[in-house]
Amino acid sequence: MSDAPIESVAQAGTLYVVATPIGNLSDLSPRALKVLAAVDRIAAEDTRTSGQMLGHFGLRRPMVALHEHNEDAVAAELVARLRQGESLALISDAGTPLVSDPGFALVRAARAAGVPVVAVPGPCAAVAALSISGLPSDSFVFAGFLPAKDAARRKKLEELARETRTLILYESSHRILDSVQAIAEVFGAARRLCLAREMTKLFEQSLTAGAAEVLDWLRQDANRQKGEFVLVVAGAETERTPADRAENLLRVLLRELPPARAAKLAAELTGLKRQELYDLALRVQGAAGPGNT
Ligand code: SAM
Repeated sequence: MSDAPIESVAQAGTLYVVATPIGNLSDLSPRALKVLAAVDRIAAEDTRTSGQMLGHFGLRRPMVALHEHNEDAVAAELVARLRQGESLALISDAGTPLVSDPGFALVRAARAAGVPVVAVPGPCAAVAALSISGLPSDSFVFAGFLPAKDAARRKKLEELARETRTLILYESSHRILDSVQAIAEVFGAARRLCLAREMTKLFEQSLTAGAAEVLDWLRQDANRQKGEFVLVVAGAETERTPADRAENLLRVLLRELPPARAAKLAAELTGLKRQELYDLALRVQGAAGPGNT
């Protein structure tokens, strides 16, 4: 592990994508601080918000606003500067740029122009919530914010209802109640989810429970509906294959019937071939051992 001096931290002509805190300023990494102090310019979603954060650390660098309304035009200008040898850091209001935040057009344009792009990783609300959710984290889908309008939100949730990977959503205080209610209705009241609120801040809270229980918890106290939220939702139960279903069916039928009869009934119930089911029935019975079906 190396700890490079500030002078060599910001290489000429390089774009640094720098994560900043999602609440607690102590979460700004020492490396992020060094890079932000050393770059020629900082592109920020909101220069006033980021200016305050940088001011807290005594940092004053030339800044340029890069937000969803000007991103394409500003990206072209910044890439031209990068190609002339300027170093640039990209930050957003909070967390990791490009994660439900501006920056994609700039990074894409920088890569297309052959400009080196370097990550300075750090806080990200989605990953922070996943890490504390107690829900499967080996495979997940980040879907950002749900649509604001009720019909579009439901349609989106219906598309996601059979997703078997853990789902991560962002939500604001205005819509948290509606979104959790829609999840309970579309995914089912028992679907487990983690609500992580105001992480790293004074009123941080998190709860993992069934969707209906999380909805009740929110309704019990209006203060719980305030602030910033991440919802981590358990994936749908894995859809079993027809072969899995047939095997389970045969196990039940074989308790009462000989293999030929069990295979005949299973073929009628599943539409699968009788001979294949008979062979499967013999294997299932053989594996169960004598007197152990
Ligand atoms: N780029 C950011 C990141 O890396 O997490 C996300 C920016 S997005 C515009 C803002 C949303 O992130 C909020 O509406 C909320 O859903 C989530 N968020 C940000 N900070 C949070 C926090 N401290 N606790 C819970 N959710 C947070």
